Amino acid sequence: MGYIGRFAPSPTGPLHFGSLVAAVASWLDARAAGGQWHLRIEDVDAPRTVPGAEDAILRALEALGLAWDGPVVRQRERTARYAEALEGLRRRGLAYRCRCSRREIADSGVRGIDGIVYPGTCREAAVPPGEPAATRFTVPADTVEFADRVQGMVAQRLAEEIGDFVVHRRDGLFAYQLAVVVDDAELGVTDVVRGADLLDSTPRQIALQRALGFPTPRYLHVPVATRAGEKLSKQTQAPAVDPATGAAALRAALAFLGQAVPPPASTAEILAAAAAGWDPSRIPPVRVREVTEGNGSPYP
Ligand code: GLU
Repeated sequence: MGYIGRFAPSPTGPLHFGSLVAAVASWLDARAAGGQWHLRIEDVDAPRTVPGAEDAILRALEALGLAWDGPVVRQRERTARYAEALEGLRRRGLAYRCRCSRREIADSGVRGIDGIVYPGTCREAAVPPGEPAATRFTVPADTVEFADRVQGMVAQRLAEEIGDFVVHRRDGLFAYQLAVVVDDAELGVTDVVRGADLLDSTPRQIALQRALGFPTPRYLHVPVATRAGEKLSKQTQAPAVDPATGAAALRAALAFLGQAVPPPASTAEILAAAAAGWDPSRIPPVRVREVTEGNGSPYP
């Protein structure tokens, strides 16, 4: 089977060094395998979308020579597919409506790896269709395990560490966890390469893939770039990657990823050399990595 990869930025700000690292890693992994690389704009959480961010991301990728295959996929155009998947979960008896408030869930107490573990209060409640409610996925009782290509074995007991999680929000929006699984399956993604901030979400996504009868791709999670211990993001005012210094940005991303850094050249030449030398076994197997002069990264 041919390699199909993707880059899936959320349009919450311009491309910064942290998102560039994920873009470069997924692009190189796809190109080194002679595969396809798709671009998906993850705007399922519409209220978080920043006007102009999508455009800025597309222009930055283009300017850097990170060319994608096929049309750009936009989650906002795909809600009908998410609704079908939700219906599929319901039909299989794997989803239920939940009217618990944040307060009620917080009061229930047990902290997991991503907030409070939902105690299953509404599992048998049969909340009537007219009543505003979220929909939760009934997580499997067994441990979900997978071998990440960089981070190694990951095992999670969803029932104890996460609990039944929301796939459709009370405000009508579909949850990222459901959207990403539906979208990756439809693109036929064989390899997910992204930041390790999503490592803990992967077992949830694998459980949804199994419930919906979708194949599970291979996963490779690269370290998240931090500065003074903080993840680079719009919130930490990480500057936008400047296409005028694109070659330097690419070289910094390669250094961050533990790759051989080609000498200064055009962005096209740097990308070609990096694809020829791409070696995922050199990526530091850590979840976060500080951006320093020491690892060759002048960014941000
Ligand atoms: N949209 C997510 C982000 O920008 C990435 C999701 C993914 O790659 O699965 O962090």
